[in-house]
Amino acid sequence: MMKHAEKIDAIKKGRPLRVADYIFFVVLAVAIAVGSYFIYFPPVATPDTAVVAVYKDGEKLDDEYSLFTNGEFTIDNGALTLVIENGAAFVKNSQCGDRRCHRTRITRPNQKIVCLPQSLVIRIERGEKKLSDDDGIHFYA
Ligand SMILES: [Zn+2]
Repeated sequence: MMKHAEKIDAIKKGRPLRVADYIFFVVLAVAIAVGSYFIYFPPVATPDTAVVAVYKDGEKLDDEYSLFTNGEFTIDNGALTLVIENGAAFVKNSQCGDRRCHRTRITRPNQKIVCLPQSLVIRIERGEKKLSDDDGIHFYA
């Protein structure tokens, strides 16, 4: 059995490794905490970056609209009216017939309103982000 002094000696000898272990676990814990934070609380739209973009047949139209400026905008020569009101975007007066697009209100980045009959997608984006190929939006004409 170890004597008291030997135990202290052993602890002292072992110390550099233990400090390194502590640092490793602290770094790991912080990394997990930060990672979890972004998974559970993704960054929210801010006035500087959130814009409402419109795509027709998968092609982005020239005009973008700030999500934080209230207004009504005629899209695609009157195909529908985009309404932006207090940080939310929705559609009215759509010429699509089924008017399913009227039921959706979007308020956060990557949310979208799809008007399938007119091949229109209205999406909230951050700044200059483009619609990517793996976005899950497909048109069947
Ligand atoms: Zn529609």
